[in-house]
Amino acid sequence: MGWAIFFFVYLVISIAMAKRYYLRRHGVPGSTGGPGTGTAGYIGLAWPITIFLARVRNPSPCYHMVHIAARNRAREILAMRRQEG
Ligand SMILES: [Zn+2]
Repeated sequence: MGWAIFFFVYLVISIAMAKRYYLRRHGVPGSTGGPGTGTAGYIGLAWPITIFLARVRNPSPCYHMVHIAARNRAREILAMRRQEG
């Protein structure tokens, strides 16, 4: 029974880690099968190692066209809201 709890806790941390990394790298919440989700998944599963990597803790923004567009859109919306007060 002990191993099952260990596995469950490991998996929960993996998912949280993958989601956190994905959001930081791509600037959008992870969607199943979207660009970069595979890498985020592997980084999440290898969290006992990847948690210490600077590239994972503070990733540089990705170059996916859809994500660049999404980040720009989010920035524009924020700027518009600020102008409106
Ligand atoms: Zn991306």
